Amino acid sequence: MTTVTNLGFPRIGAKRELKRALEAFWAGESSAASLQDTARGLRARHWTLQREAGVDVPPSNDFSFYDQVLDTAFLVDAIPARYRELTDADPLAGYFAMARGVQRDGHDLHALEMTKWFDTNYHYLVPELQAGQGFALRGDKPLAEYREAKALGIETRPVLLGPVSFLLLSKTVDGSPALDLLDALLPVYAQLLAHLKEAGAQWVQLDEPVLVQDLDAAARTAFEHAYAVLSGVPRPKVLLATYFGALEDNLGLAAALPVEGLHVDLVRAPEQLDAVLKVLPADRVLSAGLVNGRNIWRTHLDNALVLARYAHGHLGERLWLAPSCSLLHSPVDLDLETRLDDELRGWLAFSKQKLQELRLLADVLDARPQAEAGLAESRARIESRRQSPRVHKPAVATRLAALTAADAQRHSRYPQRHLAQAAALKLPRFPTTTIGSFPQTLEVREARARHKSGKLSDADYNAFLATQTEHCVRVQEQIGLDVLVHGEFERNDMVEYFGEQLDGFAFTKNGWVQSYGSRCVKPPVIFGDVTRPRPMTVRWSQYAQSLTDRPMKGMLTGPVTVLQWSFVRDDQSRADTCRQIALALRDEVLDLEAAGIGVIQIDEPAIREGLPLRRAQWRDYLDWAVEAFRISASGVRDATQIHTHMCYSEFNDIIHSVAAMDADVISIETSRSRMELLDAFVRFQYPNEIGPGVYDIHSPRVPDKEEMLALLRKAAEVLRPEQIWVNPDCGLKTRGWKETRAALEALVAAARQLREET
Ligand code: GLN
Ligand code: ZN
Repeated sequence: MTTVTNLGFPRIGAKRELKRALEAFWAGESSAASLQDTARGLRARHWTLQREAGVDVPPSNDFSFYDQVLDTAFLVDAIPARYRELTDADPLAGYFAMARGVQRDGHDLHALEMTKWFDTNYHYLVPELQAGQGFALRGDKPLAEYREAKALGIETRPVLLGPVSFLLLSKTVDGSPALDLLDALLPVYAQLLAHLKEAGAQWVQLDEPVLVQDLDAAARTAFEHAYAVLSGVPRPKVLLATYFGALEDNLGLAAALPVEGLHVDLVRAPEQLDAVLKVLPADRVLSAGLVNGRNIWRTHLDNALVLARYAHGHLGERLWLAPSCSLLHSPVDLDLETRLDDELRGWLAFSKQKLQELRLLADVLDARPQAEAGLAESRARIESRRQSPRVHKPAVATRLAALTAADAQRHSRYPQRHLAQAAALKLPRFPTTTIGSFPQTLEVREARARHKSGKLSDADYNAFLATQTEHCVRVQEQIGLDVLVHGEFERNDMVEYFGEQLDGFAFTKNGWVQSYGSRCVKPPVIFGDVTRPRPMTVRWSQYAQSLTDRPMKGMLTGPVTVLQWSFVRDDQSRADTCRQIALALRDEVLDLEAAGIGVIQIDEPAIREGLPLRRAQWRDYLDWAVEAFRISASGVRDATQIHTHMCYSEFNDIIHSVAAMDADVISIETSRSRMELLDAFVRFQYPNEIGPGVYDIHSPRVPDKEEMLALLRKAAEVLRPEQIWVNPDCGLKTRGWKETRAALEALVAAARQLREET
């Protein structure tokens, strides 16, 4: 009998029940007891669902009120001093204070820093550690959840973040190496493992995803040491889980650790199977990640079976089948997608369906006769997708094949373009502009919702948007900005807006994935070749331009960002999908230019987050990402000015590529770091124009003229004056009008004074 297992299940609930319960609790509208009830209900439902889908051993302790890394910090008492008083008085309140900060009852605590979980769109809270600190077992969450499942008659495998990954994902406030704390931490893990064994747990899963990254000698030694220590204590059997990539040079290390099982990701890295089988000791279980935990496609079961049969031949019952990683990164249940057409739905699989696929694979391996029907059904769906004219459009393939280097190349080099643009735009020195969006007030959001539900007609909605746009243009004129924007009132979200207008995109009803805490995103599904049936933004940009003599900046989301924030195809390379989006955007850019828009911004905030986990793969990614941006931007005349915008970015590692994008102007987020993020540009002698943000739009605080002027003077010390633009850090959609107006007035005043001074 082949065992089917799972590494983690989405905790938010198919209808985001946990989100609602959390937000009601935070708002003081419900009690802790009712939050706990919802959580217990979700856990029970999810364990049952997994069992019914055919999972032999579902995970436990994969549930979290906010984040599993925060849970781990809490569990080992890695609680920074500032939260102590709260966590001691009321653990749940203290836990949420670490997650979200708190500002009441005399407390004013900021939250732990948040950062991306490997290359996913999930964000974890970064534990704050300190040299010499202690750890202790605090609470009994893993134990309690194991028992909770057991009481329902379900044997689970508790999941814990492994000690080495925990330390490497943390930061130390004093800059000391986090791994120095390993010896202090291990006894807590040992104690916990002993409790789990006592409670009857057969297996425990220790997640060590850092094993798919480049590790230095200290980290490798830490692994050997940690697992040697843990092998000597009373504990359940350990499944060491790696995911999101290949073990590569860490394979020997991982396979030699004294544990009872190893999980490897065979979706991201199927090629590692042979090497894994060669080095895996003869008594070890191999959990084979064969179904993608990170997308929404049905698995190509015949391909998966090739790997499964091969592994089965070597391992027999020591082979377990599993998703590639925790299903945290997939939506819950495709059965709720009643609005998708049958054909498209037939191509998809969410968490529940992915587990059913694993059961089917196991049944095929075990030669169960009923498995054949399931396999045939799956084949038919895969074949329908492979042949569908909705997916494959010959014209797109032809256009992609005809791309040449010249398509990714502006007509002239920057210095010449600069002259043409200066003559066309006649801007003052230190020109002022904004990043695109203006306040999305309640009124705007309500009108959109009413339009969507059919309560507001197209005509009335468009009239409403026109009024908003006109108001926005007038305000910008009054403030005295140089390059205006239309305000983006017609957009809900910077990817969805474009996805809805492009062919090849679909939208789900409940395809939510947790991004952080109670926040979920519903990424569009790119299922087919991308085309642009008609212009997408020209109408609003053209209308806005008709209202003013000042240059109006067209506003687009770049190809890499659209790709990065969507579920993408698994039947062609990311690079090809990205090029298709780039070509559609190129047409839009040219239509904007033809409509008289002389400045066009192509936002690429997500370029950096697309970086692969291994440095060796960075070059390739950056090359096609930059090329895609350039394809979208390069059709225009010299006199048309192309802007780009990037936020949430560290630039040191990628400055070559950012420069290679060759935008005439880039705006970046620099105000929080007090211009530190500009260093990379200065060191590189970035040649084109640059707008270092001087207004932190994440805060309702209004910076005054002097504050922004000080930042600008800093920039002016290191950049050429004719390079510098004056703008906020990012779009203003989350701000209110009052603070926006005040801050932009100060921003314009700062630019004017700088013109006088310099
Ligand atoms: N143009 C977008 C806006 O202003 C950019 C958003 C972003 O960079 N995240 O809202
Ligand atoms: Zn931004």
